Amino acid sequence: MQKNEIAVIEIEDMGAGGEGIGKADGYTLFVKDAVIGDVVEVKVMKAKKHYGYARLMKIVKPSDQRVAARCPEARRCGGCQIQEMDYQAQLAFKNRKVRNHLLRLGEVPEELLDRVMEPVCGMEEPFRYRNKAQFPVGRDREGNLTAGFYAGRTHSIIPVPELDCLLGAKENQKILRIILEYMKEYGVEPYDEESGRGLVRHVLLRKGFSTGELMVCLVINGRKLPRAEALIGRLKEIPGMTSISCSVNMERTNVIMGSEILPLYGKDYITDRIGPVKYQISPLSFYQVNPVMTEKLYGAALEYAELTGSEVVWDLYCGIGTISLFLAQQAKQVYGVEIVPAAIEDARRNARINGIENAEFYVGKAEEVLPDYYARYEKETGRSARADVIVVDPPRKGCDEALLETIVKMQPERVVYVSCDSATLARDVKYLRGNGYEVRKVRAFDPFCQTVHVETVCCLHRVNS
Ligand code: SAH
Repeated sequence: MQKNEIAVIEIEDMGAGGEGIGKADGYTLFVKDAVIGDVVEVKVMKAKKHYGYARLMKIVKPSDQRVAARCPEARRCGGCQIQEMDYQAQLAFKNRKVRNHLLRLGEVPEELLDRVMEPVCGMEEPFRYRNKAQFPVGRDREGNLTAGFYAGRTHSIIPVPELDCLLGAKENQKILRIILEYMKEYGVEPYDEESGRGLVRHVLLRKGFSTGELMVCLVINGRKLPRAEALIGRLKEIPGMTSISCSVNMERTNVIMGSEILPLYGKDYITDRIGPVKYQISPLSFYQVNPVMTEKLYGAALEYAELTGSEVVWDLYCGIGTISLFLAQQAKQVYGVEIVPAAIEDARRNARINGIENAEFYVGKAEEVLPDYYARYEKETGRSARADVIVVDPPRKGCDEALLETIVKMQPERVVYVSCDSATLARDVKYLRGNGYEVRKVRAFDPFCQTVHVETVCCLHRVNS
């Protein structure tokens, strides 16, 4: 096919970014905003040798999985890639993706998979689940002050409809309105990416869903917010307002947050709870964005770990210790490893405020800390280091082979693998299956409804010594 050619195709699959995939005479086309099952008329925008990208021109016959997007800007925003897909179909798609990866890339036998795979766990209400939102502040095409998202590769901002993103907390709308009104009233300029001038860059909003506590942090290109008391006076009237601050970011960069936080009102942090564990979250802390699903996800990790109170557990890629502190309640000792020092500070503080004394944290790369520990232990004691359970929750690229090798050497009875990318999970499962471990439980979770992302928890047991 060639550029500008028109074709009518049926969408048969969905790509990693949520784009529909169909074939025109055997030639594969990727079509943004098309849903599996749609028959669509498309125009080829870019043609490569074996595949091309096409624009959705007309829906000839809508898929029975197609629903009307709740947000009128869903297509332009790009934050929700699959809002036009029925939620049950989203779940089925994600489950199928995990299953196919384990089958094809993980080489897990089909009959085993059928036995061990539990039904996908989704949300009852797949909107308003995010406890964190970040909006750039700027001007729309008409020059009005607004908050929303950048329009394509431009510097102008498309407002979030009604300033109310449907993935976020209801309070965000009121907070954004107050901030924009304040800016207008006192002539506070939004930051302009092109010129590097102006003050207010982004607004970061967080809510502790279990406590109702709210946090507002304005990212500013300066060190002072003029007439801050006027803004604070209005914001603190919102029930739950707990922490107001500025983050100083004077760099010309895409990075949103600056590293220095100037407190304006209330505490430096908000508190939230996942299950029985309390967490203090500051503007720079990493924290899971969907606490309701996180509790279910980590609940499954805990269940799969089958702890009785006598186990030594490693939690690799532990972040702020969310999983470690969950596990510590039922294990003898937990060791967490994480590469970001600030996250480990948070993990230690969270252990302290929960009175958890059997969790210890190390800063470093999991693929270095664990092998080093193993080598040192062997040298000092003449014996091999062992663990009862090892939990991993790596970033998308999965586990380094040096780490998997050490995990196998430590002979844990169970390995619990929490994964945000089922392709790398499958690759690592293949390694573990080849080295004495077998898959006993797998379950997909949906903490990121309306997006293409899926989390998986997989439990492997040691089957030979
Ligand atoms: N379980 C954590 C989140 C895990 S996300 C929680 O719930 O808070 C993956 C984490 O791995 C991130 O915190 C990231 O900083 C960390 N990380 C990335 N590469 C790493 C490596 N090579 N070794 C250790 N940690 C790493």
